[in-house]
Amino acid sequence: MKIVNNKTTSVNYKICVNKIKNNIKSIMIQNKGICNLQEIISLFTLSHLPHIEKLYYQSDIVEEEIMSLLLKPLKCLTVSSCKWENHQFVGKRCRLSAEINGGLVKLQHLECLYIDCFTMTHEVMETLLNFLTSKKSMKEIILYSLNCSDHDTSCRGFNLDLSQHSQLRNLGLSYIPVSQLNMDVSLLEECIVGELYKPGVVSSYLSQLPAANKLQTFRCVDLRSSSDIETMLQTVPLLYHVKYVSLVRMNLGERSLTLSPQMINIERVNLFYIITMSCSVLHDLITVINKLPHTVTVGMEGCDIKPETEFENFKTFIKQSDNFVVTYDGTLKSGVYLFEFKTSTASTE
Ligand SMILES: [Zn+2]
Repeated sequence: MKIVNNKTTSVNYKICVNKIKNNIKSIMIQNKGICNLQEIISLFTLSHLPHIEKLYYQSDIVEEEIMSLLLKPLKCLTVSSCKWENHQFVGKRCRLSAEINGGLVKLQHLECLYIDCFTMTHEVMETLLNFLTSKKSMKEIILYSLNCSDHDTSCRGFNLDLSQHSQLRNLGLSYIPVSQLNMDVSLLEECIVGELYKPGVVSSYLSQLPAANKLQTFRCVDLRSSSDIETMLQTVPLLYHVKYVSLVRMNLGERSLTLSPQMINIERVNLFYIITMSCSVLHDLITVINKLPHTVTVGMEGCDIKPETEFENFKTFIKQSDNFVVTYDGTLKSGVYLFEFKTSTASTE
């Protein structure tokens, strides 16, 4: 069941929920600033859904309200603290108290946890990460933007040991104070690597990924350190099994994103909001994808590609080449420019 604020009346929702509440296993709520959590909980009788397994909640959250989301049968919990502003969600930090954390770590059936944009004391974060470390049956762990309120960015960090997590399929870590990371990558299918503050942790994270034989999606976001970006670019060609590669918000400069011919499953490369990137990166990229025996799509959204005249020449080349088909060239609804093309099937024959 997916609930998104729109013009449908709450009465209709309530009638609908009451009819099917014994069958509801999954709820997705994106609250675009219309009501508060307590209203939503009472409207959808959220606390009385006996078989609810999956809850996705994206909203402006009041700290005290989070307890009501910690429903006992939950297997998958996503809580993203944000506000609806200018037609998009923007992160808004919410405090995670020891009491709330205590409720979270009691979710016995939990397999997937995604929490985004919370602040908590050092002790609370330690309890949370210890819980995740001890819960070896976790399939998905995504931790974004979790702040230690005692030490902020100078926090000494935590050891996140996922080396016994043999079921782990999806791991995402960004903007959290981790000082040491180990993981079992045997079933890993999706991975997000983000800024992790402590020197060497991102490299350690990346160094474990070439062994992930089931990895399909690799996404790298917000890397700041030049050496981390370098390590990431050296790691990508070693991810032989991936289908999707995305790089988001970082400065590539003159560095090249290369793929290797061994990446025989690669289907799509997305570059989002790359702050600066040389046009030669694109030339290197198309040289490799052109040799692959199947179609590969490349998308560049909101990227600053230099020099501009060379980028115009590159686009003209792509448009005129028989080897490529342009699938998008224009401004999206968000006002951001997207240029997207794929290798033509003709070139693969
Ligand atoms: Zn700390």
